[in-house]
Parts: sequence; structure tokens; C-alpha cells
Amino acid sequence: MNIVIFGVPGAGKGTQCKLLSERLGLVHISTGDLIRSEIAEKSEIGIKAENIINSGKLLDDITVFEIFSKKLHNSLQKRGVLFDGFPRTLKQAEMLDDLLVSMNMKLDHFIELMLTENESVSRILKRASIEGRTDDNPETVKSRFQEYTLKTAPIAGYYRKKGIGFSINGTGTVEEVYNRIVLALKI
Ligand code: AMP
Repeated sequence: MNIVIFGVPGAGKGTQCKLLSERLGLVHISTGDLIRSEIAEKSEIGIKAENIINSGKLLDDITVFEIFSKKLHNSLQKRGVLFDGFPRTLKQAEMLDDLLVSMNMKLDHFIELMLTENESVSRILKRASIEGRTDDNPETVKSRFQEYTLKTAPIAGYYRKKGIGFSINGTGTVEEVYNRIVLALKI
């Protein structure tokens, strides 16, 4: 089973993916985590990405796709994949379609976690004090939302048209959201 978990910054994508990957034995691919590893390793991509992440902008499609597709090719022994933070542009959605076809795979579900901007901002600022992510601060968060609205949000329509997209209420506790997903996926 291959699933995209989608939603505004702070919607709980990473948290829900961790729980779902344990339950379903799926590999969890977070492009945000992959980029942060590149930054920690001070790789060529990491050096280029650091300022972009900290300004709340999206990394270019080609670079993200390069890191993402390498990880996907190395994850094939698992029972399926949870895509967290990819795709984030329509171009990336098309690139994912082509990649999956070339790998004889398909997307089964596109789950959008629904949360208002106010709720997400307050979650992100709470997370800042726990995880210390450099992009979890008020200025960067504003720019991350702008990027989301402009470039990422249209993807939801793209998948709904394909008939595999559905929305989940992302408010409440981690368990409440998780139970809603489990119910919707009938797993
Ligand atoms: P995340 O951990 O998913 O919130 O991602 C953190 C940051 O990494 C984003 O704000 C972007 O700067 C960058 N990023 C992660 N995934 C992507 C992607 N698919 N395309 C472009 N930039 C990305």
C-alpha cells in the first residue's frame, strides 16, 4: 500500500506517518527529514538547502526529486511507502506519477489532514520548544504557509480528480486523528 500524507505545515503528517508505518509495516519517507540529514552532513545539497529551508521556501523540484527517488529505490523491500512532504508542487506530483509507473508501483491513497492556519501555527510554535527546528519560528512559518497556499494546496485537487484523495479532520489529539485515518483506510 502506497499512501501520500498531505496537509499544511504542522498538520501532524510526520507524527501520523510514524504511527501508520509501525501498524502497516510501511517505509516512511519524509523529504523534510532527508533534507535535514543532507544539511547535517554538510553535503553539497545540504549546503544549498540550509538557507532555503530557513527562509521557509521550497527547495527546487529537481533537487528534491533526486534525494526522494534515491530513497524510494532503496526502500523496495518494504510492504509499501508513506510519502510525507512529497509531492509539494504539481510538477512533483507528475514526477511521482512517472516514477511510480517506471517502478511498477501505484498510489493507493492521498490523505489530506485538515487544519486551520491558526491551529497549525500554534502547534508549530509549541513544537519549536520541543524539537528545536530552525524553521519553526514565526517569520519562517509565515513564508512556509505562503508557499503552501501558492504551490502545494492545488495538489489536493489533482488527486481528488484521480479519485484517490480524501480529507481527514486533523484537529484533536494524535490518537483521535490516527483513529480517524485507521477508520477511513479500513485497516
Ligand atoms: P517538512 O519537514 O516536511 O516540514 O519540510 C521542511 C522544509 O523542507 C520545507 O519547508 C521545505 O523547505 C523543504 N522541503 C521538504 N519537502 C519538500 C518538497 N517536496 N519540495 C520542496 N521543498 C521541500
